[in-house]
Amino acid sequence: MPALTHAALDLLDRQDPLAGFRGRFALPDGVIYLDGNSLGPLPRATPGRIARTVAAEWGESLIRSWNDAGWISLSARIGDAIAPIIGAPPGSVTVADSTSVNLFKLLGAALALRPARRTILTEAGNFPTDSYIAHGLATLLAQGHTVQEVEASAIADALGPDVAVLMLTHVNYRTGAMHDMAALTRAAHEAGALALWDLAHSAGAVPLDVQAAEADLAVGCGYKFLNGGPGAPSFLYAAPRLHDALRFPITGWFGHAAPFTFDAAWQPASGITRALAGTPPVLSMAALEEGVALMRDAPMALMREKSLRMGDICATLLAEQCGTFGFRVLTPSEHARRGSQFSIAHPAAYPIMQALIARGVIGDVRMPDILRFGLTPLTLRYTDLWDAMAVLRGVMATGEWREPAFQVRRTVT
Ligand SMILES: *Cc1c(COP(=O)(O)O)cnc(C)c1O
Repeated sequence: MPALTHAALDLLDRQDPLAGFRGRFALPDGVIYLDGNSLGPLPRATPGRIARTVAAEWGESLIRSWNDAGWISLSARIGDAIAPIIGAPPGSVTVADSTSVNLFKLLGAALALRPARRTILTEAGNFPTDSYIAHGLATLLAQGHTVQEVEASAIADALGPDVAVLMLTHVNYRTGAMHDMAALTRAAHEAGALALWDLAHSAGAVPLDVQAAEADLAVGCGYKFLNGGPGAPSFLYAAPRLHDALRFPITGWFGHAAPFTFDAAWQPASGITRALAGTPPVLSMAALEEGVALMRDAPMALMREKSLRMGDICATLLAEQCGTFGFRVLTPSEHARRGSQFSIAHPAAYPIMQALIARGVIGDVRMPDILRFGLTPLTLRYTDLWDAMAVLRGVMATGEWREPAFQVRRTVT
């Protein structure tokens, strides 16, 4: 590759087949947003949609909107819209609750499918809520379940005869490292275990095919790469071959076969609908539907190509422009092993990121020492990477990050 120049990146921007998508987001001036992996930006269609949902559907039509505006089918409808993004067939994905709650439900259902086994196998350093949920469920069940947490390289060897479910996050939230979903699912199946995948950093970020990988269960996040808005509901998937046998630990009326017969006894709805618990947050669902609709228009092959190229450019620019400041790249360089973020380590990660944010370059920090930059091909330009790196160089070269204001810890990092 010739030495990277601003002009070369500008040419890439002008040739970028995805360039038109940027205009479909409301992005503030003076900001380079590198945190779409944590909170996706606002699609321009969303405010109008929410306003209509509030004023017309709620304000005018009132309770009639459950039928007339299709509120009652939002979970199934958005699930079917997400399905192709993760390679799932229609009717196998639904939307509800938070990722944490859906993990609880799926993990509970998985353990019930393997009643003779007692181990939940996961990766050490998984996103904490995933681990918390597993431990909490094991304690609640009080049947001797344990959570075994091993390094990535030890997963295959740990798949012994007591493992009920292998629960993994596909793309690591700290490093951006990506697992081979098909290979690990196969290994889990050979050991007689189920495979449950957390796609929080994968859906809308990397090509996914849960069906080809034969994944059993999956969960994912609505507010990250799917741009569903803060606190957007989560999605969950179960392979159709499992649907009839699935028993979720929360048996609410939205998962009932006929909620509006108000039967005294709970009967599971058919298919993935039985995973639902209670009334969905309609305003948040409306926002999520817009985010997902936008993402479905985006060709994943082009997104992936741009995302990988952006990651390579970040690594090159970091080496060329910030090589003397002691950063260490954490994201794997190998394309097949990375998601859609660029993570680097530095002992002063926190104040450095605050200094970047003060200059309009927004990423985030995962303590103690990781700076994360989300690579979202629909909103970022190649020249944004150049500009962001120039700001990083300035912050480091001047020592600006040492200012006292940047040392103050806020609640959300
Ligand atoms: C973002 C994320 C979550 C979020 O869980 P919520 O319940 O929506 O807060 C869970 N797991 C992983 C791996 C994540 O990246």
